[in-house]
Amino acid sequence: MARIQMTTPLVEMDGDEMTRVLWKMIKEELILPYIELKSDYYDLGLVNRDQTDDQVTIASAKASLKYGVAVKCATITPNAARVQEYKLKRMYKSPNGTIRAILDGTVFRAPILVKGISPNVRSWNKPITIARHAYGDVYKASEMKIPGPGRVELVYTSSDGHVKRALVHDFDGPGLVQGQHNLIASIESFARACFTFALDRRQDLWFATKDTISKQYDHSFKDIFQSIYDRDYKEAFEQAGIEYFYTLIDDAVARVMKSEGGFIWACKNYDGDVMSDMVSSAFGSLAMMTSVLVSPGGIYEYEAAHGTVQRHYYRYLKGEATSTNPIATIFAWTGALRKRGELDHIPDLVAYADRMEAASLATIESGQMTGDLARITDLTDPQVLDSRSFIRAIRANYEKQN
Ligand code: NAD
Repeated sequence: MARIQMTTPLVEMDGDEMTRVLWKMIKEELILPYIELKSDYYDLGLVNRDQTDDQVTIASAKASLKYGVAVKCATITPNAARVQEYKLKRMYKSPNGTIRAILDGTVFRAPILVKGISPNVRSWNKPITIARHAYGDVYKASEMKIPGPGRVELVYTSSDGHVKRALVHDFDGPGLVQGQHNLIASIESFARACFTFALDRRQDLWFATKDTISKQYDHSFKDIFQSIYDRDYKEAFEQAGIEYFYTLIDDAVARVMKSEGGFIWACKNYDGDVMSDMVSSAFGSLAMMTSVLVSPGGIYEYEAAHGTVQRHYYRYLKGEATSTNPIATIFAWTGALRKRGELDHIPDLVAYADRMEAASLATIESGQMTGDLARITDLTDPQVLDSRSFIRAIRANYEKQN
């Protein structure tokens, strides 16, 4: 059968360790036999990042701005141990952070649901996608230990010299203080990315803060979302038959636990940090979680939510065939190829993505899976495969469908 042709290149960001190994296998077995892949390739593996002084990461983000769709392999964020292990010139920043700073995006994480891996919350039969605002609040706070009695104030000095003050607290003994901030521009672009993504997915959007207690800070988040929604998205939401729903964070948490899923949950930075781990662990496995960075201008960068699976890589280096789960990385590829197909009006590419995802899930549902899933499945007698055999089983199922 003729391979599917592409018109615009996909920005391809290769990565590190076990996921780099999977990346190659996925391309060899599941992509190149079926698609004449047009990719603008960037090697974000740590060795090449070091050789290029991390310029390759910046170049890959700029290419994403140019072409609109990227797919990224997991990459190492170096710490002191990695600096030694790879003899790095310096401790580079997280590639995801660098890319996000250039694309100004929001990350949406969604679980991949499959029969045989049941969520711990029984009512969740559709995915819950978490959108985390990735700027400010407690993550960029300034903190101080207060040693003893005294006054703490917030002081704002405008660039033309006007001063505004607010009392934080008159301390009569030791205490703690923390100053948080956020930027209106960042909250606005977060809101836009969320509304854009909800429309793209045709799913309701939920947002929650503690506006009853934080009458200026959190209330502004609520107001910004509402005014952008009313002005720019309400009509499109109504046409798409989806809803924007705002509530208090405590009410949102209670409702999420009783819901059946199937919506996007926009979270402030800290809420998103905490809730995304809760949601991913309740849905089963980090290896079944995809992640897409969406910029307010509509640039999409797809990846797996997990890291480079370091422990498996060291076993792989010793010559062992590991049973590392490639599903989230496969879905990163299919997500990106589907989006490319939609933008370039290539129905065959969209259909390929749908079929490859269906084949991946059918493989697991037939009882063939990797070790991480075999440990949590409710299917009896799962067959544990190594990564290559599992990917080949998916390929066989894909071929069967055609
Ligand atoms: P990790 O996600 O690689 O592994 C965490 C745990 O989950 C491990 O026990 C691992 O065995 C298991 N796991 C994760 N994915 C799996 C899969 N596909 N199949 C089977 N088991 C899987 O995270 P880590 O160990 O904290 O980090 C390893 C490296 O990954 C670090 O250098 C870190 O910087 C990097 N990292 C990168 C990204 C990214 O690029 N988006 C995200 C997180 C971590």
